[in-house]
Amino acid sequence: MHIGCPTEIKPQEFRVGLTPNAAQEAVNHGHTVTVQSGAGNGAGFTDADYIDAGAAIVGTAAEVFEKADMVVKVKEPQPKERKMLREGQILFTYLHLAPDPEQTKDLMESGATCIAYETVTDDRGGLPLLAPMSEVAGRLAPQVGAWTLQKANGGRGVLMGGVPGVGPARVLVIGGGVVGTHAARIAAGMGADVTVLDRSLPRLRYLDDTFGGVFKNSYASAGSTIELARQADMVIGAVLIPGAAAPKLISRAQLSELKPGAALVDVAIDQGGCFETSKATTHENPIYDVDGIMHYCVANMPGAVARTSTIALGNATMPFMLALADKGWRQACEDDPHLLNGLNVHAGNLTYYAVGKALGIDV
Ligand code: NAD
Repeated sequence: MHIGCPTEIKPQEFRVGLTPNAAQEAVNHGHTVTVQSGAGNGAGFTDADYIDAGAAIVGTAAEVFEKADMVVKVKEPQPKERKMLREGQILFTYLHLAPDPEQTKDLMESGATCIAYETVTDDRGGLPLLAPMSEVAGRLAPQVGAWTLQKANGGRGVLMGGVPGVGPARVLVIGGGVVGTHAARIAAGMGADVTVLDRSLPRLRYLDDTFGGVFKNSYASAGSTIELARQADMVIGAVLIPGAAAPKLISRAQLSELKPGAALVDVAIDQGGCFETSKATTHENPIYDVDGIMHYCVANMPGAVARTSTIALGNATMPFMLALADKGWRQACEDDPHLLNGLNVHAGNLTYYAVGKALGIDV
């Protein structure tokens, strides 16, 4: 199969769909790989890295789309890219179609077979192609929160680990899933005093068994959330209710109860955010102040560490990409129901129920 990887064109996207290692694996499996010149630059991969891996380099996205039987990307195709898709071609990338009727319509009209990273599943009910980005965002959250806490950035001027004779920062993590667990581990590793809240008792049992000595955990209720938030220097929002907007767990009125200069890091901002005063920000201008409380609400946190994120995503997508290339999409999806769950659009039809329900399209 001919696998193509164009440069990402969505603003502020520095990741790339195919790492040189993934390209090399595909070549070793007997496939041809074409990469757009410069596609890996943002993630620290040069054209020479891809050539060493056995890939060919071309100058334009149009050439990639023209040659490829399967296009591998990171972000949903932008309007310009959607025009280049054709019938029978496979598109393997994040799509997030539910809030995006225009993209859905264009993909249906293209006749391509579109497999979305975010709906591929695993045996444990997880989302294996979303998890690496939650791991990255979770581990990044205390790092950006620590920066936000610095005085010059409007924060409380509290050091995460304290020093001998001065206690550490107190960090509250709301939601103990993938993001929250990774955030708590890193915050604890920086020396902070960390508590994780969750509503799921099985999850709290897991956290207690696995990280009992590393950070504390507690059951999340409205009362426990505000009580712990009042004591915190940093609150990390990491909740998710699948398929729903994030619940608002700290209201604007409650900001006055928090410590002046406390940092709120709302990782759940991509689901609307879990603090009433959260609004999405960008890497250029990541923080803002509401009533003396500093908010960090970047919706694409993994983009800040494009190299780590690209490699982490590539590790997760590679087995699926190889299965699609080796067997063709039909056989690969027949053999693996988890990959089949990724199928969102095929030959003019929408094939993913939740997207159809959200957009009022028959599936
Ligand atoms: P997850 O499903 O692994 O974990 C969510 C946890 O929240 C679950 O354990 C659940 O029990 C808990 N929860 C739900 N409601 C709660 C409540 N009211 N109080 C306390 N806990 C509650 O999800 P995840 O992968 O950790 O993702 C968390 C959020 O981070 C999602 O909204 C995801 O989209 C977002 N995210 C954002 C970025 C970014 O760049 N901003 C990157 C990756 C993920």
